[in-house]
Amino acid sequence: MVSERELLQSVPTQLWIGGPVDAEGGATFPVHNPANGEVLIQVADASPQDAVRALDAAVAVQGEWAATPARQRGEILRAVFEQITARAEEFALLMTLEMGKALPESRNEVRYGAEFFRWFSEEAVRVHGRYLHAPSGTGRIMVHKQPVGPCLAITPWNFPLAMGTRKIGPALAAGCTMIVKPASETPLTMLLLAELCQDAGLPEGVLSVITTSRSGAVTGPLLEDPRLRKLTFTGSTEVGKKLVQQSAHGLLRTSMELGGNAPFVVFDDADVDAAVQGAMLAKLRNGGEACTAANRFHVQNGVLEEFTAKFAEAMTNSVTMGPGIDPETTLGPLINEDQLTTVGELVDDAVAAGARVRLGGKAPGGPGWFYPATILSDVPPQARILREEVFGPVAPIVGFETEEEGLAAANDTEFGLVAYVYTRTLDRALRVAEGLESGMVGVNRGVISDPAAPFGGVKASGFGREGGIEGIEEYLSTKYIALT
Ligand code: NAP
Repeated sequence: MVSERELLQSVPTQLWIGGPVDAEGGATFPVHNPANGEVLIQVADASPQDAVRALDAAVAVQGEWAATPARQRGEILRAVFEQITARAEEFALLMTLEMGKALPESRNEVRYGAEFFRWFSEEAVRVHGRYLHAPSGTGRIMVHKQPVGPCLAITPWNFPLAMGTRKIGPALAAGCTMIVKPASETPLTMLLLAELCQDAGLPEGVLSVITTSRSGAVTGPLLEDPRLRKLTFTGSTEVGKKLVQQSAHGLLRTSMELGGNAPFVVFDDADVDAAVQGAMLAKLRNGGEACTAANRFHVQNGVLEEFTAKFAEAMTNSVTMGPGIDPETTLGPLINEDQLTTVGELVDDAVAAGARVRLGGKAPGGPGWFYPATILSDVPPQARILREEVFGPVAPIVGFETEEEGLAAANDTEFGLVAYVYTRTLDRALRVAEGLESGMVGVNRGVISDPAAPFGGVKASGFGREGGIEGIEEYLSTKYIALT
């Protein structure tokens, strides 16, 4: 396995615009290691002009890339999948260094993230149209799908690889060029991916990566440029709303994968041990820093105490907090000090309102942004933690009496990304799954993400889908050709 030092010496740190290039004036910004707060490395700090250079490059090759046979595009995507897989340990270590997550989490993300290239290498050749006679007999109707054109992807820090590959895979498969602006906390993984894509045969200019400490200033000119045709964003609802407003200027196609506040509902008839296992995954995957993380647990009163006690026992027995690169670590640090403060405030607010701390509940202090696995029971309805996205390893638990009450509590949120339900009754599973106001529902499952399934939300969690056969549609426009 490559060492930390070797990796940091070899990882690209310049902008990637047809290859490595310096930012205007050689500007850089620091990337920190969340496990100790220290500076890991300096990375190119793009200016607005640099971003326009990336768009120039994307526009220059858009026609050629769209005209490249779909089979050839698919084979390049497949080669990228193979190369990420071959270099999985490098990607995993890099993500752990810049984002903090435990190495096993990073390895899982590499597998998940790479899979979007394999899936969309297969979808590239399955873009179909339609041909029919007009019912009126006046002619023929041909429906044809074409790439939307140059795209901008803005991605968050929590899954530095997969949030990019979920967008790059379908865009490239559809024949679009793309500029990625990764989060300033985790720019390295995307730069390494861009280099790897070029090694795998992706033509220059098809994929650019611009890293910057001034997101708004740098993406603003792109959103105003009529040559850009699509914005795809994953991040907070607050920033997503701003970007939708900005993209109105050019009437851009948009996909918005925004924040979540997932309910995890356990009914009296559930297999409680299976529910606890599912809860561990839904809460602790990625240290709780996932849009799909179970944010609040609604448990029917008949199994409330059993579930709470077993959940606390499972967390006590299987969570080891520490720097992500330590082999025994299962829970790494949070991303930064702001996030540590937010998580602490949400817990303190709940406790002040009457919640009971069953496990954890206090940051250990010291270097790094660590917060322990925490369980709160008897959480009162007014606690902020039930309404706001926690983005940390904290599980607030609330009881409910009837199915109607449980469903109403689960839906009592502005968000609608994912919901989880545990029950052994098929009738109830289907009834509740249909009644939950979310884009995705896990039934007796604590992890639902799958490149072959359409991922996305409703309400304040956004619109558009990534993965599945739906994912590529986000990058295609429909043309109707009328024939005699
Ligand atoms: P964020 O603050 O919204 O940032 C996301 C991205 O937007 C980053 O690249 C950020 O750059 C950039 N950005 C911020 N302000 C911008 C502006 N004015 N103009 C252009 N770009 C701007 O979100 P985050 O804290 O990184 O990520 C956590 C959020 O993402 C959570 O709410 C989570 O639920 C959501 N998320 C959703 C999904 C999903 O699929 N629905 C998946 C993962 C995460 P900087 O880094 O430079 O600020």
